[in-house]
Amino acid sequence: MITETHAMYDKLSGLLSDTVPDFELRMKAEIAAEINRLKIEKNAVILGHNYMEPALFYSIPDYVGDSLELSRKAAQSDKDIIVFCGVKFMAETAKILNPTKKVLVPSPKAGCSLAESITAADVRDLKARFPAVPVVTYINTYADVKAESDICCTSGNAVAVVNSLNTDRVIFIPDEYLAANVARETGKHIIYPTRDPRQKFQDDLEYQMVGWPGRCEVHEKFTVEDIVNVRKQFPDVVILAHPECSPEVVEASDFSGSTTAMINYVQKTRAPHYLMLTECSMGDNVAAANPDKEMLRLCSVRCPHMNEITLEDTLESLQKEQFEIVIDEEVRKKAYVAVERMLHIG
Ligand code: SF4
Repeated sequence: MITETHAMYDKLSGLLSDTVPDFELRMKAEIAAEINRLKIEKNAVILGHNYMEPALFYSIPDYVGDSLELSRKAAQSDKDIIVFCGVKFMAETAKILNPTKKVLVPSPKAGCSLAESITAADVRDLKARFPAVPVVTYINTYADVKAESDICCTSGNAVAVVNSLNTDRVIFIPDEYLAANVARETGKHIIYPTRDPRQKFQDDLEYQMVGWPGRCEVHEKFTVEDIVNVRKQFPDVVILAHPECSPEVVEASDFSGSTTAMINYVQKTRAPHYLMLTECSMGDNVAAANPDKEMLRLCSVRCPHMNEITLEDTLESLQKEQFEIVIDEEVRKKAYVAVERMLHIG
């Protein structure tokens, strides 16, 4: 074990000595080495979302990526246990795709402001108010909401999913800004109904998308003013915005894409400076992987839900095999159909 801990410390120190204090790296290396030992003993696979804190991100996951990539990896794995170092809706997606495996999320507190903005009953109400209009649901939702949907989407394939439906109208839930960005890109007019069922809409084609007022509490914080101020100081900066940012922020940026698309963009291009308008741990992780590139840090917008996932909790999760994701089988099957339809689109 001592050898594994030293090797882990050397790895983390090589990548993160500029961002994480040395005493913390030593402590985390020891926990990570124990997790990796237990992972083999329990025949488990660990998935790490791009928003995990750097020491966890670079030490224990077998796979890193966005939630969908990770769920796909999980589906290909022959391990008995999947530990999802991400938030609950992500672990649920892994369970939807891997019903026979034990899926664990290290903290029961790892929620999401977007996923919590809408319930299955809300979706049923929307369907009653807009009959025969297909429901496109962002992957950042809980299983019961997915189960009420026709098809899921990610921030990377949302436009392709909407276009694939070939219908006059779609209900697109729950992210208000992602929906607005998709509407802008596809040239559709979007409306946001209130929760009041008495609110009426004319039955003509004055709108083509029906949105919902859910927001990511991280990405909604970025403003056009932030961008203007950074450009004043660094005129040659390339700004990348996640599509959960407001349409104004996306328009004022140079590139917009999913977490994976942003990572690929930085890897494949060479700009004097980059600024990523997204969760701050991801900025740290991309900076560590690209030491030859100048990454600017605008602020420290850390997702409080992602922040709940620590190495300590992951160790305890594996030791006690907690907190297991359980989904009602009828709900899971319906949600599977919506996720599977999306997977065919890519
Ligand atoms: S970053 Fe936003 S969308 Fe992602 S888990 Fe946190 S609150 Fe939810």
